[in-house]
Amino acid sequence: MEKIRKFLLTDKEMPRQWYNVVADMPNKPLPPLNPVTREPIGPEALCNVFSEELVKQEVSQERYVDIPDEVIDLYKIYRPSPMFRAYNLEKVLGTKCKLYYKYEGGNYSGSHKANTAIPQAYYNKKEGMKRITTETGAGQWGSAMSFACQYFGLELVVYMVKVSFEQKPFRKLMMNTYGSTVIPSPSNTTEAGRAALKKDPDCPGSLGIAISEAIETAVKDPYTKYTLGSVLNHVALHQTIIGQEALLQMAKADDYPDIVIGCFGGGSNFSGISFPFLRENLVNGKKTRLLTIEPSSCPKLTKGKFMYDFGDSAGLTPLLPMYTLGHDFIPEKIHAGGLRYHGAGTLPSQLLKDGLIEAKTKLQRNCFEAGVAFARSESIIPAPESSYAIAGAIDEAKIADEEGISKTILFNVSGHGLLDLISYEKYFENNLVDHAMTNEEVDAALSKIVFPA
Ligand SMILES: *Cc1c(COP(=O)(O)O)cnc(C)c1O
Repeated sequence: MEKIRKFLLTDKEMPRQWYNVVADMPNKPLPPLNPVTREPIGPEALCNVFSEELVKQEVSQERYVDIPDEVIDLYKIYRPSPMFRAYNLEKVLGTKCKLYYKYEGGNYSGSHKANTAIPQAYYNKKEGMKRITTETGAGQWGSAMSFACQYFGLELVVYMVKVSFEQKPFRKLMMNTYGSTVIPSPSNTTEAGRAALKKDPDCPGSLGIAISEAIETAVKDPYTKYTLGSVLNHVALHQTIIGQEALLQMAKADDYPDIVIGCFGGGSNFSGISFPFLRENLVNGKKTRLLTIEPSSCPKLTKGKFMYDFGDSAGLTPLLPMYTLGHDFIPEKIHAGGLRYHGAGTLPSQLLKDGLIEAKTKLQRNCFEAGVAFARSESIIPAPESSYAIAGAIDEAKIADEEGISKTILFNVSGHGLLDLISYEKYFENNLVDHAMTNEEVDAALSKIVFPA
């Protein structure tokens, strides 16, 4: 029989709705709290910072949300994204399992982040905004927003952590090419930035300071709003286009996954690929295991605590119910920069607490090994973040082989690694260290959490 390696959908077959898992969750997510009063806060409090429609989606219980025509139109540049059968990797592994992967690196941003950047820019434009602010660490999110804002005629100001700005010029140049302004943070354009510079003129910056600068700039001007690329419910919602497509592609493959796997930073790409399959579990009696892989150096899901914490290190967001290592915990510098976040989104946190999804950890060298094996067999050089999902899939295939069962495994390759080749070089030179957080380190990180009195 002729091998079918890729499963494609036509433009017409692309799903026209995002799936909101909240509608089917047995326990609804707990509300965000005001950090001072500890009372639940209403959506109004968020509208200062975020677009109204995005705030509506953040608290929505509606099962399906229509994707606006303008967003569909732009999605069509790169969606539907392909799903591949990893025949070559299967052969290299000598596995009896069937491995499939969805590839989200084939768009302008090189990752799944474009899927939410486009609707976020669209809604802000529709509501009359003129300017967007955001922060970026290594630059994946900033470059995803840059094209989206340019397309919809919005100005974009990106506060980029100063060390990354200086050490990683390529993402910055991408953002400039798409027309955005990139400011190394801390900067003298905001009070938060000036305060940080006063304390330390050579401050290398942090995501916390960059967030403070971006939010401060947004709240000062009624025509400027702030955007975030992970963690929040509306971001997970937009990413469900991945799993909605994968459901259709699995049907085309005449197959169905026993396990669905994604890597975990704040939870958006994992939510995106897994929530539509979770619905099949909850509503249609399917029994797919939904497994997410996080770095051993930042194990919020497997070792963190489910509690209310700030979403950002500066303590500017409302308190969110999440698995966390503490908002001021700074994880070891691993090369999967997108997975170095202290907490997990509210939705995956609640689902993990309820036993509806699973989490495991991996060490970075083992993930690079998996990433290289994937590149050498399937041809795509994966983002270091995505290599955690690949390593997780390889592990599950090995476990199934040992048990003598052939399983169908679907994993998400969230992005390509062409701008991360320096970290591959470090791996080849044997210059990467593995770090696993111990229980004592986790306790120490959690005990440092300070809330406002
Ligand atoms: C940002 C990023 C991640 C991690 O973010 P999630 O919200 O957990 O998906 C993973 N992979 C890539 C390629 C990224 O850019």
